[in-house]
Amino acid sequence: MIRLATVPEVRTLVAEWRRASLRVALVPTMGALHGGHLSLVREAKRRASRVAVSIFVNPLQFGPNEDLARYPRDLEGDVAKCSAAGADAVFHPEPAELYPPGFDTSVEVARLAKGLCGERRPGHFRGVATVVTKLLVLFSPDVAVFGRKDYQQLKIVERLALDLGLPTEIVGAPIVREPDGLAMSSRNAYLSPEERRGAPCLREGLLAARRLFAAGERDVEKLREAILIPLAANGARMDYVELRDRDTLLPERTARATTIALVAAFIGRTRLIDNEILGGEMRVG
Ligand code: AMP
Repeated sequence: MIRLATVPEVRTLVAEWRRASLRVALVPTMGALHGGHLSLVREAKRRASRVAVSIFVNPLQFGPNEDLARYPRDLEGDVAKCSAAGADAVFHPEPAELYPPGFDTSVEVARLAKGLCGERRPGHFRGVATVVTKLLVLFSPDVAVFGRKDYQQLKIVERLALDLGLPTEIVGAPIVREPDGLAMSSRNAYLSPEERRGAPCLREGLLAARRLFAAGERDVEKLREAILIPLAANGARMDYVELRDRDTLLPERTARATTIALVAAFIGRTRLIDNEILGGEMRVG
């Protein structure tokens, strides 16, 4: 597996792949890789003959009071995991490589970035959209794979690729979970053992809403309440619980099979997110 730290190195490698008519996939990450990230690598391998993983803790997407400084980092471990998962290259730039002195350009997806995580984390999605655009322009991959765990992010990336006319197909991959249902996340490492025990409550609330929906409940408030019960029972502090249309992310008046329930909650100081489509296919693991 090839390690790349600079933009010219990426350009050279991608040009080589292109000359060989190889199909290229990109998996953008912030590292501290877990099974969720590695499932994206495997999905990328199914869709392309060369897979690059980017590992970059993007300072632009962290607010001033967020966890940029303490975000988990394990480059050598990540490189080994990428290699074992079959990636062909890892791109791990320093911030100055992507943000030259005087950097003054950003990408903003206007409506989709409002509400949900966009409202709680001002500037977050501008940072995400800017770095993802830079990576998509740099690699110009045939396909880029993102997780559905960060559902609003996935919708924003789909939108920007379409709006900017980028030649990359954006693929959303299923959420990978721990055996107890907790969505895998680099931030799970922040949880104390006691917090970790309560953390599946986001998923429990979402499953309760799915059961109610399957039993015929269509009232958005009743479905929200069902999600809130396990959160409260486990001492989680709700950040938001919302029901939106899965494509437009507009609020729903009445729940439908295509409604997505999205949750963000603090377990202690750790903010976790999860989501479920109410009438969606059930996935285990
Ligand atoms: P991050 O490193 O947190 O920026 O995540 C990088 C990519 O991995 C994003 O597209 C995430 O949505 C995806 N991802 C993170 N956790 C999971 C998970 N549990 N299942 C599937 N994809 C995930």
